[in-house]
Amino acid sequence: MSGIDVFEALRAASRTDRRSPIVCERFDDLGADGEPCRLGIMGGTFDPIHNGHLACAEQVREAFDLDAIVFIPTGSPVFKRDQRIAPARERLAMCRAATADNLHFDVSDMEIARGGDTYTIDTLRTLRSHYPDNVELFFIAGSDAIASVSKWKDSDEMGCLARFIAVERPGSELSLTQREAIVKGAPNIDLLFVTIEALAISSSELRARLVAGKSIRYLTPQVVVDHLMEHGFYREEAVSHD
Ligand code: NAP
Repeated sequence: MSGIDVFEALRAASRTDRRSPIVCERFDDLGADGEPCRLGIMGGTFDPIHNGHLACAEQVREAFDLDAIVFIPTGSPVFKRDQRIAPARERLAMCRAATADNLHFDVSDMEIARGGDTYTIDTLRTLRSHYPDNVELFFIAGSDAIASVSKWKDSDEMGCLARFIAVERPGSELSLTQREAIVKGAPNIDLLFVTIEALAISSSELRARLVAGKSIRYLTPQVVVDHLMEHGFYREEAVSHD
């Protein structure tokens, strides 16, 4: 099967949505055996997903001894109302294609399917009521997003439902003073900070390269490269197919 065939198969599967899992197919039964386990929740716009996100998830999984990670692409991010982003279903399909070969990863469409503005509190409430208490939740996102966590809807309640992991890009790490200010602003949230070398790649860099007609090979899985070359969401000019 070529990369494009794999992608089309996954996209068709996401359209038919045979079993309608609550969270995602691989991890809906997590914790059912009563054993303690840890679930990471990768929140982000993923516009588009790239190898930095994937390597980050894998390294955070190891660093925090997580059993599984579910990627949850945002449906309609409240802080990005004035920004142009790729269609939600396409971002979702690219996430599915990119994570398919890692048994520790899966993707949930819950934020996209929910519709309306996307609030993390709604996602955490759904996850907390779905999983038994032996499943501990860790919400993972970029530190620039988490910097504003105290302003997110019902932030105090969020702190009761999950711990938060703020991932920093090398070169743009927060100073100790900035970290302390974030922690002080959100006293009811257990915040953990980690720097991940692989996150030097960014979605904005990928979009800029596509607009400039440059190659994005090896920056994101080939199935995503193929999809972007075919559909060209970010392309304003012709893109060279490397
Ligand atoms: P984003 O633009 O996707 O990400 C912000 C930064 O972090 C970017 O530099 C991004 O890099 C990086 N990043 C993205 N996902 C990451 C991940 N899982 N781990 C490490 N770094 C990551 O941010 P966003 O979509 O606005 O927000 C992130 C999450 O916070 C989402 O789940 C969103 O729904 C949630 N959020 C909730 C509220 C609320 O409830 N009120 C408000 C704001 C954000 P790339 O550009 O390379 O992706």
